[in-house]
Amino acid sequence: MRQNNLKRSAAIPDNPAIADPIGCSERAGRHDLCEAQFDNSFVSELPGDTVTHNVPRAVRNACYTRVTPTPVRAPRLLAWAEPVGELLGISRPASPVGPAVEVLGGNRVLPGMQPYAARYGGHQFGQWAGQLGDGRAITLGEILGPDGKRWELQLKGAGKTPYSRTADGRAVLRSSVREFLCSEAMHYLGVPTTRALSLLATGETVVRDMFYDGNPQAEMGAIVCRVAPSFVRFGNFEILAAHRELDTLKRLADYVISRHFPELGAPSPSTYGRWFEEICRRTGVLVAHWMRVGFVHGVVNTDNMSILGLTIDYGPYGWLEGFDLQWTPNTTDAQGRRYCFGNQPEIAQWNLTRLASALAPLIEDHAALENGLRVFGETFQNAWRGVLADKLGLVSLGQEGDDVLLSDLFDLLQQVETDMTIFFRGLMTIPMNGTANAMDDAALAGLLRGAFYTEEGLAQAHLSRLAGWLRRYIARTRMDAKAANMEDLAKFASARRERMRRANPKYVLRNYLAQQAIEALEQGDDLVITRLMEVLKHPYDEQPEHEELAGRRPEWARNKAGCSALSCSS
Ligand code: AMP
Ligand code: MG
Repeated sequence: MRQNNLKRSAAIPDNPAIADPIGCSERAGRHDLCEAQFDNSFVSELPGDTVTHNVPRAVRNACYTRVTPTPVRAPRLLAWAEPVGELLGISRPASPVGPAVEVLGGNRVLPGMQPYAARYGGHQFGQWAGQLGDGRAITLGEILGPDGKRWELQLKGAGKTPYSRTADGRAVLRSSVREFLCSEAMHYLGVPTTRALSLLATGETVVRDMFYDGNPQAEMGAIVCRVAPSFVRFGNFEILAAHRELDTLKRLADYVISRHFPELGAPSPSTYGRWFEEICRRTGVLVAHWMRVGFVHGVVNTDNMSILGLTIDYGPYGWLEGFDLQWTPNTTDAQGRRYCFGNQPEIAQWNLTRLASALAPLIEDHAALENGLRVFGETFQNAWRGVLADKLGLVSLGQEGDDVLLSDLFDLLQQVETDMTIFFRGLMTIPMNGTANAMDDAALAGLLRGAFYTEEGLAQAHLSRLAGWLRRYIARTRMDAKAANMEDLAKFASARRERMRRANPKYVLRNYLAQQAIEALEQGDDLVITRLMEVLKHPYDEQPEHEELAGRRPEWARNKAGCSALSCSS
């Protein structure tokens, strides 16, 4: 499958409809993927598996195993994220099939690529699970983007590796669409995340028992090309510590610090401590973002925690519709609710504690590790308070009565099913001036009526309770205005609104919207996914022409598979 002699065509046609014979064209300063230069630091700087057998097995003394993607029958481009192409300096393939698409389907390995599967372990649902590793993800190589930044290109669903255990190395279309869309949606929401360049159908089917109920079905197969500075997880360190492969542990730590945390200086025992602290800080910021936008990852195992503090591995994730701290999208988690919305900060800290144990052999001064964990707690608390202040449009939280105001709000939001996104966005419309005094309870609370899923929300009793809270909230925002000593209240109000607008997205990837995109694509229609991608690029803008994508989840989606609960089957 290797094609070493890809030549550039001499004449580059202006009209993209006139494809050049080998599909390698150059547009707007961007190159075809086939011409990309690779510089594979992970492979060149770290020890690899000396065994090359691509069969499931325990791997020792290595950070990765070199493997080649298994070709698929008919790779076909379904979606492309233009801005990610821009980061990489790569142009969209001119046609849905062709050389670049073959690369993204794993059918063709370009010169300079050194594909590998990473070795990692992890704690899953609180238990040490031993070796996991890239069982279906294969990194093709690292590209230096036009701005000199390094990006790893990884195919998810590219075939078996030594880490596949008993699974098939493949991915289904539905989970691939979800990963592709959500990576990009999160980026535009301002949440740290891995990115996604392309979504391909493989032309093959994959058998999955979606509900784990003994009804396996053949589903469309797909491959996403994910992009991140690095896909290293907590689990990459855990597996090395678990097997006391301490030299390799140190090499991996040194590599990650030198390549991805150069600002910390040359690796040394004291650098390791500061590095761990930085990982804790980034993780604290990350989780505060998840909570801000109502994102529930669903499987926050240590193998799904990025060392760079990115959201990684989009599986049975979900977006809060009704605000509920106990909500989990993952059917496997329905009993224990370990990974429910409100538990995410605590679980992140638990995972960081596992990472601390893995790094302990490198850091003599264990106080540095304890300090890191403390930094996580502080960072999360500060970030979360900042997030809440932004969401509510308050200058800061910490005045007398603020804690009660907040806990009363969370109680209210959980008393009747209230859409988190619509409710917070709607708070911007609550008048701060005297207008509210002249409104009765039903009229005032009724400004948020679009957030209620049931009649209960519109019942007089609830509207009165909510109006009572809103009047306290309005009084509190007036205190801010007074303290700011703003002569011009209108100016204060507009600055406040702008801050709220940027903290409260109007458009999020509601679970049913992703499902609609999947169902359309399964029928060969890419209009739904294309529209969603465009709208989700501007989640904080009003975009009135797309209003229906900002509404409550429709009732038909309440209990529909993929829209309310998701299994890990993917
Ligand atoms: P996840 O739950 O997606 O984070 O995956 C946990 C582990 O299972 C990782 O090691 C994955 O690589 C592996 N895995 C998940 N699905 C597959 C599959 N279809 N084929 C091979 N390995 C898989
Ligand atoms: Mg994973």
